[in-house]
Amino acid sequence: MTTPAQPTLTAADRAHLRRCVQLAREALDAGDEPFGSLLVDATGAVRFEDRNRVAGGDATRHPEFEIARWAAANLDAAARRSAVVYTSGEHCPMCSAAHAWVGLGRIVYAASSAQLVAWRTEWGIAPGPVAALPVNQVAPGIEVAGPDPELSTEVRELHRRLHARQG
Ligand code: ZN
Repeated sequence: MTTPAQPTLTAADRAHLRRCVQLAREALDAGDEPFGSLLVDATGAVRFEDRNRVAGGDATRHPEFEIARWAAANLDAAARRSAVVYTSGEHCPMCSAAHAWVGLGRIVYAASSAQLVAWRTEWGIAPGPVAALPVNQVAPGIEVAGPDPELSTEVRELHRRLHARQG
């Protein structure tokens, strides 16, 4: 199962994705799962960033979900519509729904959900409790771009380390 590479990533997109992968690495090093995300406004400024924080026992502590809630509390509707969310791994259905409900704009990811599923299958890991649907199956109106061939390789390595740690 592969997702065709999208030719629409710019140098600025890649720079933001690199920061997401760095946040994912920080999450892994802190005992959480390797996911990181950021919200960039229409001027190109990073307004909010977070990383996965599920190790404390709350499995909904995904950075994309935190971004949606931060945006709802801090940005008006026009600012949310023009904001772009960058993320190391494509949104899960929970986060895709939150993104769409609060009216955020484009999503750019380094690795796709299809890639993550393929890696987990290759490593013999049982599927999680939530189907790994692509963003557009949950939120059809959201423009998406990704994966990035080079950065998705780095994301793969972080997930390999996670699963090696979990045994
Ligand atoms: Zn999520």
